[in-house]
Amino acid sequence: APLPPIDFKAELNDEQYAAVTSEPGPALVLAGAGSGKTRTLTYRVAYLLHQGVQPYEILLLTFTNKASREMLERVEELTGINGRQLWGGTFHSIAQRILRVHGDLVGLQRNYTILDQGEAEAILKNVIQTLDSKFIKTKNNPKPKVVADMISYARNTCREPREEADERYPFLDGMADKVDKFYKAYKQAKLDQQVVDYDDLLEYFLKLLREQTEIREQYQARFKHILVDEFQDTNRLQSDIVDQLAGHHQVMAVGDDAQCIYTWRGADFDNIMQFEERHPGAEIHKIETNYRSSPEILGFANAVLASQPSGLGFSKELRAIKPSRERPYFVPVMDTRGQAKFIIERIEGLVDEGRNLSDIAILYRAHFQAMDLQMELTRLNIDYQITSGVRFFEQAHIKDFTAQLRFASNPADVSAFARFTCLLPKVGPKTAERIHKFTRERAAKLEKNFCDVLVSPEVLKKVPADAKEEWPSLAETIREVSAALTERAPEEIIQLALDGWYSSYIREIYPNWTDRADDLQSLVSFANRFETMEELLAQLVLLASESNERSPEEQQNCLRLTTIHQAKGLEFPVVFVIGLADGTFPLKRTIDAGDLEEERRLFYVAVTRAEEELYMSYPMLNNQGNQVMRLNPSRFIQEIDPSRYETLRVAPTRRY
Ligand code: ATP
Ligand code: MG
Repeated sequence: APLPPIDFKAELNDEQYAAVTSEPGPALVLAGAGSGKTRTLTYRVAYLLHQGVQPYEILLLTFTNKASREMLERVEELTGINGRQLWGGTFHSIAQRILRVHGDLVGLQRNYTILDQGEAEAILKNVIQTLDSKFIKTKNNPKPKVVADMISYARNTCREPREEADERYPFLDGMADKVDKFYKAYKQAKLDQQVVDYDDLLEYFLKLLREQTEIREQYQARFKHILVDEFQDTNRLQSDIVDQLAGHHQVMAVGDDAQCIYTWRGADFDNIMQFEERHPGAEIHKIETNYRSSPEILGFANAVLASQPSGLGFSKELRAIKPSRERPYFVPVMDTRGQAKFIIERIEGLVDEGRNLSDIAILYRAHFQAMDLQMELTRLNIDYQITSGVRFFEQAHIKDFTAQLRFASNPADVSAFARFTCLLPKVGPKTAERIHKFTRERAAKLEKNFCDVLVSPEVLKKVPADAKEEWPSLAETIREVSAALTERAPEEIIQLALDGWYSSYIREIYPNWTDRADDLQSLVSFANRFETMEELLAQLVLLASESNERSPEEQQNCLRLTTIHQAKGLEFPVVFVIGLADGTFPLKRTIDAGDLEEERRLFYVAVTRAEEELYMSYPMLNNQGNQVMRLNPSRFIQEIDPSRYETLRVAPTRRY
């Protein structure tokens, strides 16, 4: 059937139109915030489908899976073509999809499981402890978490961890060798358990593309069009993947160097700067209109960029087309409690004026800055959604429950095994490992399935006395889930697990177990979206890391609280940016290090989320414990011509 017509000319400006309808070949759309880069990519997909390109020939890489879902839903509205037929998602999710099929070629078994960050760190810590028991106790040495970050940073920038260690700790003797040793042992530990961390997904994917010519050519031929959003925040590992996939330079990337905010994870805006070099003949499109914000908000945002030292980046000033509004408000408040009070009063006012709660977002530099606000919102029963901090898929009960599923699908995954067995009385990681080892060896000897042996009396003998009562129910649940894995649909498997041990466990442990049971039950409808359990499990881990979702159920009309990092690409009619005191934003550590540019870009990202109203609050006092400290307004505000904003005076809440 012919697709419904789209008037591309009417929906897009000239530059967007040129990009959307450009001939196949490399293209870069380079433009500031709110200029319609994401919209351009969405219409590009619709346009390609109109040109007869098949959905599965299009690969859409986005910063979050949610962003890709939203774009593909829009494509569906425009064309009627089911967005699920396209390849859309983050680098990690695409990598995992392809590794599920071809991972064996780079040494992965088909049923490998994905570790979340906490689990990966636990393995590394274990490795460090085993190899060098004094390392962690020695005062000047980096903590295991810091070692983990360092290794991850090195991998994302395609360098050896030892080089990174050498650079960061030149004063600690032999650090490079140590880190190298830890890294290698960590790698081996993961291989033994057939588990991968996030970085592995990208590394194995790149390795696959580099080393397996046939596979590479197959995907190069399949993905006739590769579209990448938020290109400024890709790192070396990711851009190498793009290069491998786009053998014929069939890539269109969009980005804004002024919004590069992930250099701490290896993001490198050289990927943008060098795009032309890497893709000869690339078309470069620039958009100069901003469709998102009022002229007053945009004027302020432009001024933020104007305070950058000269010579940075490509971007230039944007023009606004939206109607005029109030200038952004700068709001000094007494302290974070005064801040919470101000925001809540203003929100109530906004709702009276007819705004929905979902029109409003509160953005902050770091999660803890929103503590007072969260407490007040909870007290007043104002519904909010939080996109950082503890998120739906990161909650302990969700992870405990899903660990059972993960384990059933990959019985080599000791981390998953330990996660739920340690819930039993008197069982710790060491005991869990021992039970696991015993079961594994027995299963090998009897040539039986691991999960079938788990329920045997021999294994029960190895379980500590206090846990013996619960063990059979747990082991039986795992066995049933494992047996159902290949036979039944994901939602049936979830239900099966829900009918098992864990549900009775939470009833005894948690006073508020009904809420948790509801959360778990919602996984059944979530599972509906997936064809296979493998796909579901992989998504569970990836979602926990990204967390744009409060629960699998649809979003509600509620306020949004989020870190600025997580707010990338989003827009809201009303935005509050909180904590604008020097030392809070920019963070003290970045001031001390003289490394302010990324903080400034982060501030730029924050203010450019706003469409109509922007409030920037500044707690004047920091009162922690019994110490009260005066804070200065953020230098990012002080740098800006006061005519660009209005200072709002609010009544003090409390005297000191
Ligand atoms: P960011 O840099 O923050 O990711 P962006 O450049 O991706 O921003 P979009 O989110 O695509 O910008 O667009 C910003 C807003 O402007 C969206 O609401 C979008 O629908 C709207 N918009 C963009 N281009 C047009 C246009 N030509 N006509 C009407 N609305 C537009
Ligand atoms: Mg965008």
